[in-house]
Amino acid sequence: MNEQLEQMDKEYVLHTYARNYVNFKKGINATLFDENDKDYIDFTSGIAVVSVGHGNKRVADKIYQQISNITHISNLYAIEPQAKLAKKIRELSGYDIRTFFSNSGAEANEGAIKIARKYGETKFENKRYKVITLEHSFHGRTITTVKATGQESMHTPNFAPYPEGFSYHNKIDDIYNAIDNETVAVMIELVQGEGGVQPFNKKDIQELAKFLKENNILLIIDEVQTGVFRTGEFLASNLYEIEPDIITLAKGLGGGVPIGAVLTKHKDIFSPGDHGSTFGGNYLVTTAALEVLDILEELKDTGTLDETIIYYNSKLNEFFENNREIFTENVGLGLMRGLRVKDAETLALVIKTAFECGVLVLKAGKNTLRLLPALTISKAEIDEGFKRLQNALDKIKQG
Ligand SMILES: *Cc1c(COP(=O)(O)O)cnc(C)c1O
Repeated sequence: MNEQLEQMDKEYVLHTYARNYVNFKKGINATLFDENDKDYIDFTSGIAVVSVGHGNKRVADKIYQQISNITHISNLYAIEPQAKLAKKIRELSGYDIRTFFSNSGAEANEGAIKIARKYGETKFENKRYKVITLEHSFHGRTITTVKATGQESMHTPNFAPYPEGFSYHNKIDDIYNAIDNETVAVMIELVQGEGGVQPFNKKDIQELAKFLKENNILLIIDEVQTGVFRTGEFLASNLYEIEPDIITLAKGLGGGVPIGAVLTKHKDIFSPGDHGSTFGGNYLVTTAALEVLDILEELKDTGTLDETIIYYNSKLNEFFENNREIFTENVGLGLMRGLRVKDAETLALVIKTAFECGVLVLKAGKNTLRLLPALTISKAEIDEGFKRLQNALDKIKQG
């Protein structure tokens, strides 16, 4: 731990995070090194962001070439890598869509809600504006997306009043009853990430999608966490075989540069002036994202990604089975995994001890140990990570 860094951080940075005071100095794929050169296997990839690993040479080179030339010119002019990235996203998704680029997941969801609201204003006799979401969801930290987030604890009076037109419901079945003639959209994740790595049942989602289409209600899928091959397919929507009206992306898209995206098949919903962003989709971030998508597409096409997923999950299953006195359930899809821990205190202890043993893991919901490794993680890193996790659990069991 670096005393000076801790002091400086606490003195000058607003206290919005419960931080760990480690000072990472170097990263190679799924391995991080602190200032004392201690190494850590990273099973978090910066919360599903560093999808192609730390220090990715291909992405770094492309970024360097681009920003040595042009970093930003504003959206008043066409931006070649932005157009190419939008084309690539259409091709990879398999959907007939156009894309708007934002800077984060929350902003992507804001864009999605604006599309829905405009649709509701312009396509019906009576204005439709209500957006239905689900309990345990997470959609972001802006005033609107925090209201859309189905966690009461996040709707504190501190930030009230919140925008109207949002309600959240316990389960998929409850959505049907919640719909009225002012409902314009349903917004959900296919695997609730922050809420506990909980995938929904494919049939339930397909039935919901069909019902919404028949009733002219938009389906917004928040793929900020599940998107960009995290579940094994480019989009979780591909895996669920649905065609949402709107999809949002962010976390894994830029391999670490801040970029979000709103994809919609309502290609002409916006006119110039309806929406925008100063930074959104600039040369830097779209050049990075293009390279990230190239790398991940190759990984997918060569079968390496599927192999990694199978290998990771076989190790995870072994680890789960060996520690059933601590873990109650093994959940997730692809490389978005969760192990339910018997109680929240044990989970906190697991995360802390894992850190001491040199492996980074996350929490989700109340009692889920969350694992989101880089999609490029090597077999050696996977082996080492689970070995260290087992060391951590052995320590805990010994008391
Ligand atoms: C992380 C996340 C967000 C918010 O993204 P930010 O980039 O932090 O604004 C929204 N939705 C989901 C599903 C997420 O996982």
